[in-house]
Amino acid sequence: MKGKTITELRAAFVSGETTPTKALEETRKVIAERDPEVHAYLETYDDAAAVAAEADALYAGGATTDKPLLGVPVALKNNILVKGKKATASSRILENYVASYDATVVKRLKDAGAVIVGATNLDEFAMGSSTENSAFGATKNPHDTSRVPGGSSGGSAAAVAMGSVPTALGTDTGGSIRLPASFCGLVGLKPTYGRVSRYGLIAMGSSLDQAGPFAHSVADAKTVFDVIAGVDAYDATTHKLGTYPLVPTKEKYRIGVPYAFLKEGIEPDVKAVFEDAIKKLTALGHEVVDVSLPYMEKGLAAYYIVMPAEVSSNLARYDGVRFGLHVEGKDLREDYDLTRGQGFGAEVKRRILLGTYVLSSGYYDAYYGKAEEVRTLMRSELSDAFGTIDGVLTPTAPMPAFKLGEKSDPLSMYLADIFTVPANLTGAPAISLPMGTVMRDGKELPIGIQLMAPHDGEERLFDIGKQLLGE
Ligand code: GLN
Repeated sequence: MKGKTITELRAAFVSGETTPTKALEETRKVIAERDPEVHAYLETYDDAAAVAAEADALYAGGATTDKPLLGVPVALKNNILVKGKKATASSRILENYVASYDATVVKRLKDAGAVIVGATNLDEFAMGSSTENSAFGATKNPHDTSRVPGGSSGGSAAAVAMGSVPTALGTDTGGSIRLPASFCGLVGLKPTYGRVSRYGLIAMGSSLDQAGPFAHSVADAKTVFDVIAGVDAYDATTHKLGTYPLVPTKEKYRIGVPYAFLKEGIEPDVKAVFEDAIKKLTALGHEVVDVSLPYMEKGLAAYYIVMPAEVSSNLARYDGVRFGLHVEGKDLREDYDLTRGQGFGAEVKRRILLGTYVLSSGYYDAYYGKAEEVRTLMRSELSDAFGTIDGVLTPTAPMPAFKLGEKSDPLSMYLADIFTVPANLTGAPAISLPMGTVMRDGKELPIGIQLMAPHDGEERLFDIGKQLLGE
């Protein structure tokens, strides 16, 4: 199932063993074979062939090394704007919306020589943990197509896991890169808030959103991260390295595990995979210690207040006038009602309602204000902890990929995010690493572990990740 890594592809391009055009043909072959069932892609781009041909010529001419992704096929979650292409966010309201500019991450990928092959499916406006909330049908997990790939970036994860591309970008507001990485057996990185520009991403929760890569290896995730990261004049929340204290890599790390947080709710064999990872870290000579992070346990409650509040505000722009769908009513008010009523799906409406409620006068202090206080406490708790430990280790999710339709109760779905939301609320970087498998109904399902580092500690995540995966 797994195709070549970026590292392997680049070497094969340089040696002449293959070409970007042949790699693109391989991508299209895998999509033709697997995607009718998996449904990772919403659209594939015909003009990718011309970009691949240009890369062929550059390799043939020997000018190859300064573009780290030259000729590498890449897929993009369809809430990331690509000039001239549909940016639907998997919503009816943006079904025919065409982006008028490239997101900064897309510009950087193109400048690095990437061949953008297509757009991948997601939960509508990135709201969900399974990709079942897409208005265009669910994506299936390539490891077991009766199961979900995780969400909300499930299309990008499935695109990589089925071997169509070595890497794809997702976005992560509360775990939407790490959870599908865990369910699909991939490396997934949620960068430090402000390390990657959000310019040209369709906003969900602006204080939480970050774009990041899926890959088969830590080295590949780092390659893509290095391409997309950096200060951007179009996003004032981006910062340069040095803004936060330096996070050095070390010979031996002290890794904290919040054992009290892991007492309940984790499926036993998932916990066993997690414990194996701890043994591996210890065998590598690192120290694993218990860390108390009581506010982290409040993360999920705070997230499901802060996030809908930001969602309700960000999605106010879809009014039937400026973007996408317009349904004509008898007056402007009815235009809004009809457009938003028909354009948004159930989960999006649920969150807009909740968000409007927690921001409303009389409830603001009790809900939104309180959740923001918890968030501040989580940040200081974590930064105190990083005084004595170098990273925080947890499972990525309490369970392996679940069945399609299994979590029809929204609250049970939200529980999948329990370990991932703290990184978004605090802004810390976090990586999900594929560590093992568990058996369900005779199928091997991947399990991820999550490592969190201090702000701008991506290099540390890559260092530990490479050691754990034996790269
Ligand atoms: N699953 C979480 C949610 O539904 C996270 C989504 C995301 O990171 N985009 O909000």
